[in-house]
Amino acid sequence: MAGAITDPEELLAALDLGREWLDGARAAVALFPLRVPHPYLARMRKGCIDDPLLRQVLPLASEHQVVAGYGPDPVGDMRALVAPGILQKYEGRTLLTATGACAVHCRYCFRRHFPYAQANAARDGWRTVWEHLDRNPDVQELILSGGDPLTLGEDRLTQLLHGLTLRPQVRRLRIHTRLPVVIPSRVDDAFMAWVRSAALPLVMVLHINHAQEIDDAVRMAMRRLRAAGVTLLNQAVLLAGVNDSADAQVQLSEALFAAGILPYYLHALDPVAGAAHFAVPIERALALFAAVEGRLPGYLVPKLVQEQAGAPAKVRLGAGMALPNRVQ
Ligand SMILES: *Cc1c(COP(=O)(O)O)cnc(C)c1O
Ligand code: SF4
Repeated sequence: MAGAITDPEELLAALDLGREWLDGARAAVALFPLRVPHPYLARMRKGCIDDPLLRQVLPLASEHQVVAGYGPDPVGDMRALVAPGILQKYEGRTLLTATGACAVHCRYCFRRHFPYAQANAARDGWRTVWEHLDRNPDVQELILSGGDPLTLGEDRLTQLLHGLTLRPQVRRLRIHTRLPVVIPSRVDDAFMAWVRSAALPLVMVLHINHAQEIDDAVRMAMRRLRAAGVTLLNQAVLLAGVNDSADAQVQLSEALFAAGILPYYLHALDPVAGAAHFAVPIERALALFAAVEGRLPGYLVPKLVQEQAGAPAKVRLGAGMALPNRVQ
């Protein structure tokens, strides 16, 4: 992580790209810093400004545009914050933010404005988590979310597992992470020892948006996790210029399956300020999704969802709707 590229000039040079993107990138990193780890950079095609991996991390001048409907907290996180780092939106599942650090900065991130400094559930040996569980005996699943929880060291993660052995109400621990994708060596011996020490089932939800993100190192990391019994799922975001074609979605699902991961969610973009250039109009999203459903076995079709503040669950889009037989 320490070696990640944080200077737009260095990013453009590493990919043999012209300096015409530099001023815009410099302006945008003032809003949200650039961060691209080298193992991820290595999967981008040189000289290609449209590379689907580069598009996810390239700061653009358009991030400064003020767009109606796009704000700092598009999914109502602040309202759901019941204690520092503890978000309670859905029944039985509590989401924890334990760090603001990420191994990569995704320009479309809906938490790019999240005040992590006041929201650390790992503080004081996860004390606020234990208090929350004691007050809410119906919570059965904890979800470690972004920032990226695997930026935490095994010491912190072990404290969490120890506390959970005393609280059998929690049946599953879910980890939402992009680290094993962008820096696959994160899945090292120490991490695997932690995985094997878990007394409760682990679910890992990877965040992969394009088939090109899955290389040999990612497949190897997934094989280790699967061999240790971790359930591997993926969530992606539907992003203009990255994966907004039926072909890209079909290839993603096929590549996920080949790596031992099942597609879980395909999220419509959360309208976070600075990310409007990634939006795919809903009509096009539905048509694209119908085409994808026609080309894949059901178990390789993710659920197309949108998060709506205040809703009791992620809201399904298009599911079961009698759409006309449009192909993109
Ligand atoms: C998405 C989300 C969850 C998990 O929802 P699932 O539908 O179970 O994946 C839990 N808590 C919060 C705050 C979320 O945003
Ligand atoms: S929280 Fe996830 S989506 Fe947001 S910048 Fe970090 S890795 Fe990317």
